[in-house]
Amino acid sequence: MPHTRLWIGNDWAEARAGNTFETLNPATGEVIADVAEARAEDIDVAVSAARSAFADSRWRRMNPHKRSRLLWRLADLVERNADELGLLETRDNGKPYFEARRIDVPSVAQTLRYYAGMADKVQGDTVPVPGPFLNYTLREPVGVVGAIIPWNFPLSMAAWKVAPALACGNTVVLKPAEETPLTALRFGELAAEAGFPPGVLNVVPGFGETAGAALVRHPGVNAISFTGSTEVGRTIMRESAETLKKVSLELGGKSPNIVFADADLGQAVKGASTGIFYGKGEVCAAGSRILVEAAVHDRFVDALSARAAKATVGDPMAPTTRLGAIVSEAQLDRVTGYIEAGKREGATLVAGGDRVSVNGRGNFVNATVFRDVDPSMAIAREEIFGPVAAVIPFDGVDDAIAKANDSLYGLAAGVWTRDIGKAHRMAAEIDAGTVWVNTYNQYSPASPFGGYKESGFGRDLGFQSALEKYTHLKSVWVALDG
Ligand code: ADP
Repeated sequence: MPHTRLWIGNDWAEARAGNTFETLNPATGEVIADVAEARAEDIDVAVSAARSAFADSRWRRMNPHKRSRLLWRLADLVERNADELGLLETRDNGKPYFEARRIDVPSVAQTLRYYAGMADKVQGDTVPVPGPFLNYTLREPVGVVGAIIPWNFPLSMAAWKVAPALACGNTVVLKPAEETPLTALRFGELAAEAGFPPGVLNVVPGFGETAGAALVRHPGVNAISFTGSTEVGRTIMRESAETLKKVSLELGGKSPNIVFADADLGQAVKGASTGIFYGKGEVCAAGSRILVEAAVHDRFVDALSARAAKATVGDPMAPTTRLGAIVSEAQLDRVTGYIEAGKREGATLVAGGDRVSVNGRGNFVNATVFRDVDPSMAIAREEIFGPVAAVIPFDGVDDAIAKANDSLYGLAAGVWTRDIGKAHRMAAEIDAGTVWVNTYNQYSPASPFGGYKESGFGRDLGFQSALEKYTHLKSVWVALDG
């Protein structure tokens, strides 16, 4: 049975008011567990635990080499429990077990190890100021970090936030999404097993409007690191203004995947297909707008549709499954609503478009491709967060740039071409935090990830970006002639 209580101060606790909520397996509709529901009073307890841990010399004065070792040990424990974590993730989220076990969980260990390597490298500079002074900078932790994460990559997102925050010496209150609280709870317990002192990492499942909002408003929280929808990002920014928190927001996207006529078409089709269908399309960086140069448009669409038709929708535990279950019924309604909108607005459906049931149940939809999509249509402008590709033709580089940037979002982009000059020009001109050339969906803990425009600001991953996000920079002046 999975853990279902709140994880505070290295111990399990019931919610004060005694409320619980159900977490469902989206592939079957069955209740996996009733989970304790944190509300404002529980957030208060968790923040107090995190504040005490931050003030405690065991953590605050801990030798950074030891912090590094703890993160490394946590990575080992994640690997040792990879089967269990993968299974929990698959049951809670609906993604294929293969993805959870072979991709998500190993990437969590990798992220922890990368930041284990950072923990003893958090350093400032000496600054050549005029006059008889020594000036130097210190990088200090910001304090208590509130991490609020979505349901699409629950454990990976936890690691993206928790690992750098802890490496920099902060303490964390982590609020997982209400749809997928289970791996985060187990992660909290593993952190204690690794040796992190009580209160350094606390995990409080609950709803956004209550638990999440309480964390954002709490005067004892110094920073909010958020990944989720643009709409909620806006609310968080507004709500955190009162206490002037350091906020970073990794939000939605409508990322263009741009295929030029001179591309290796086979590779481009494969890349565009995984770009939108991997993770059921429930991926912030999903390449949901596929821009294809007119000369190869029809050939490309035929090949992409054929590939989509072969993407097996099925039981997430089956090794042949490529598309698992959509995370919730509400999300399924959203996705099918957009499919209907696409048809209504005049786009041509060339693959998928159906709700599917597996063994007579579950929230499934097949890999969907629309052609004849006009850039003004809802399916070309709004984030669907499902396996729905909108193919839009273009003519030449300038048109590709204009169409790529014709979006409120700017999270990621893909470019497929054999022309190296064109590739770099596109990389420079696209307003997006990540540009992939002749590849898609590559991530590394060493490479920063985040958005332009309404995809947010601040970066997850990377070294310098983590320093900026999770430390304060202090300037110290020392008179040398006194
Ligand atoms: P999605 O659309 O992917 O479900 P959301 O932005 O709704 O993403 O949710 C992402 C995370 O933000 C979840 O953990 C959710 O509980 C939380 N959340 C939602 N609303 C709020 C809010 N008003 N304040 C703080 N957190 C919130």
